[in-house]
Amino acid sequence: MTATVIDGKAFAAKVRAKVAEEVTRVKAAGVTPGLAVVLVGEDPASAVYVRNKGKQTVEVGMESIEHKLPADTSEADLLALIAQLNADPAVHGILCQLPVPDHIDADKVLAAIAPAKDVDGFHISNVGLLATGQKAMVPCTPLGCLMMLRDHHGSLSGMSAVVLGRSNIVGKPMAQLLLGDSCTVTIAHSRTKDLADVVRGADIVVAAVGRPEMVPGDWIKPGATVIDVGINRIEDGVKEDGTPRRRLVGDCHYDSCAAVAGAITPVPGGVGPMTIACLLANTLTACCRANGLEEPA
Ligand code: NDP
Repeated sequence: MTATVIDGKAFAAKVRAKVAEEVTRVKAAGVTPGLAVVLVGEDPASAVYVRNKGKQTVEVGMESIEHKLPADTSEADLLALIAQLNADPAVHGILCQLPVPDHIDADKVLAAIAPAKDVDGFHISNVGLLATGQKAMVPCTPLGCLMMLRDHHGSLSGMSAVVLGRSNIVGKPMAQLLLGDSCTVTIAHSRTKDLADVVRGADIVVAAVGRPEMVPGDWIKPGATVIDVGINRIEDGVKEDGTPRRRLVGDCHYDSCAAVAGAITPVPGGVGPMTIACLLANTLTACCRANGLEEPA
């Protein structure tokens, strides 16, 4: 069997086009959705993410407000900025790019963001709302995964799903979303015994581990759907100038998994592009809720 490739890049473009359409509607009602992104320090990967987020925010017609703070910014100053953004009616979504420098308590920062503006969905109120099946701001990466799964399968009801990884930003909310769609969910992690057998039982495998190509094809049940969240940069040979050649791989070994799975997301071009598209969708939703406008479907 050769798996259907779930094209996250194309899907994300569709989501952004839909958001752009809705932004036009919202603007006609007199409101411009605004997303504030706060970056503390000079982590190069974070700087790239923030740049992409800003660019795509503007492309869909929203206002992008970027706050780049030096690495030695105090926790108190960061919290003061967040309080200011919470109170600003032109700001509908606030995101503080993680990781923050060690001297800042990330949990404190996330707790300070007004839940209604928490477009990353990491505030404990949104975590609780999601866990109890109420209207929440849903974390962008798992939301993107769910959208691709629903698009591919229609109903997920009754399917068995294994989520590899139990982080607060991917694994746990992913499991909640799958449970909300009536999957039978197993969350696996570094202490899980007989991991291969656990994965082999799943109709849906979501891998969010951060270990390059950890899941081989012979762990995958024939015909299963594989959603690969992992983004790992590995060295792969050397370039002509003698420097290492690098490429991105997921947490799943793509070729062997694609040979067995029914459908699979590639890395890059799978989950990654969906994450920012969902951030824009969440910002639009937050803006509609704040202004009593009809929410996008
Ligand atoms: P974390 O490091 O926070 O969590 C990793 C999880 O994997 C942990 O729960 C850990 O278990 C588990 N794990 C580690 N090793 C093993 C193992 N050998 N067997 C089984 N489970 C294991 O990572 P994140 O959730 O933040 O990210 C996961 C991956 O997803 C990374 O590659 C990251 O780059 C990527 N990512 C991609 C995004 C995108 O937009 N596409 C967005 C966010 C993340 P334990 O809890 O027991 O330690």
